[in-house]
Amino acid sequence: MSSSHQHGPKFVAGSPRQVAVVGGGMVGLATAWFLQEAGVQITVYERDSVGAGASWGNAGWLTPALTVPLPEPAVLRYGLRAVFSPRSPVYVPLRADATLLRFLTGFVGHSTARRWRAGMAAYGPLNERALEAFDVLAAAGVPAVTHPARPFLACFRRERETERLCAELEAIRDAGQDVRGHPITGWRARAMEPALTDQVGAAVQISGQRYLHPPEFVRSLALAVRSRGGELVEGVGVVDLQHAGDGISVVTSTGERQRHDAVVLATGAELGRLAGRFGVRQPVQAGRGYSFSVPVERMPCGPLYFPAQRVACTPLGGRLRVAGMMEFRRHGAPLDPRRITAIVDAVRPFLTGVDLDDRRNEWVGSRPCTPDGLPLAGVTASPRVFVAGGHGMWGIALGPITGQLIAQAVLKGEASPELAPFDPLR
Ligand SMILES: Cc1cc2nc3c(=O)[nH]c(=O)nc-3n(C[C@H](O)[C@H](O)[C@H](O)COP(=O)(O)OP(=O)(O)OC[C@H]3O[C@@H](n4cnc5c(N)ncnc54)[C@H](O)[C@@H]3O)c2cc1C
Repeated sequence: MSSSHQHGPKFVAGSPRQVAVVGGGMVGLATAWFLQEAGVQITVYERDSVGAGASWGNAGWLTPALTVPLPEPAVLRYGLRAVFSPRSPVYVPLRADATLLRFLTGFVGHSTARRWRAGMAAYGPLNERALEAFDVLAAAGVPAVTHPARPFLACFRRERETERLCAELEAIRDAGQDVRGHPITGWRARAMEPALTDQVGAAVQISGQRYLHPPEFVRSLALAVRSRGGELVEGVGVVDLQHAGDGISVVTSTGERQRHDAVVLATGAELGRLAGRFGVRQPVQAGRGYSFSVPVERMPCGPLYFPAQRVACTPLGGRLRVAGMMEFRRHGAPLDPRRITAIVDAVRPFLTGVDLDDRRNEWVGSRPCTPDGLPLAGVTASPRVFVAGGHGMWGIALGPITGQLIAQAVLKGEASPELAPFDPLR
């Protein structure tokens, strides 16, 4: 699909005034909010409650320095053997369905240095503006805050293990992104964060990053949308979209039919379900992750990242949220307690004063992953249907900037150049 398609469909009858957003996660709510900026009347349909999807239990990192395409050559080096073990941080079940097979084939095909560089070039302009979009929300009175990560530490057992992350940061810099990170000794890392044990022998400190409290942030964004006159319809799923004259009707699980000028699909890991009918062929696969919260004696000052174990820790209110795992399984499958145990075992040697056995809010949620690691954002084969999602590991960090750009696309009937690589019809 060429980018010309992105610039193709246009509303003949002027900008839409009434828009439905399907999905009340970070991406859908941010899109709703930015559409309201232009005076659009918004209805958000959420099958569950706002923030009930991946936007609830994630690590809350706003880390443009790490926001890169998921498929990369190291994924192949990691080896297939490891991914079939339930204790492995990346897990693929032995029995794969058709969507998973299509996803994995595409994913492997995109795990080359050349594709990674192309993906990085696409992410660059979004990463550059990602934090700014949060500032726009804050300046307009959305009360939930973002916190500067002082410090953001990626922790390793040995100094030589830092080399891969340092090389990745270098590659991101080569792609034109302003990323500042440098290796520090384990001693220095432990002096900064007393929750680290002497098993942390080296670290990489990355500056200029932030984090947030995901449930609080999403709730406050939802309140902001509502207080500006938006309608949040919770507990109602959308089962179909039908063209209706000069508009589009949303058909709900309760059998109701509501006409809107345009619809934005922001249904996370389930994006393929409704978007498929409108020419979106990219499979969206659930990359399931787990999290829980634990008490700490001394709360870390910022996020702690254990790249080899693929575990993320984030200070959230009075507790530390611990998150990890990439499990390519069906969205909605039950939580597998073995993954929680695997996260606990992986991180236990590195943390002190953290009671990993007093866990609350054990959670599993689905990252919406695409085979090429790029979001799906733009107009579909129908000029009245847009999609916003497929951000994989980075839908919180990129939610607001995506919302801002999609809102512009809906209003103009065409996507801006920044969105061209994310053409949902590619
Ligand atoms: C363990 C873990 C850690 C993560 N850490 C980070 C991080 O640190 N930083 C970061 O940027 N990202 C992180 N992510 C990824 C991030 O959580 C997701 O990319 C992001 O939440 C996706 O947002 P979304 O709005 O697209 O989807 P969701 O939050 O999943 O929202 C989709 C919503 O659509 C609703 N829905 C679905 N179908 C329908 C329908 N037919 N009708 C009505 N409603 C429907 C769902 O109920 C859901 O509420 C992490 C993810 C996981 C799992």
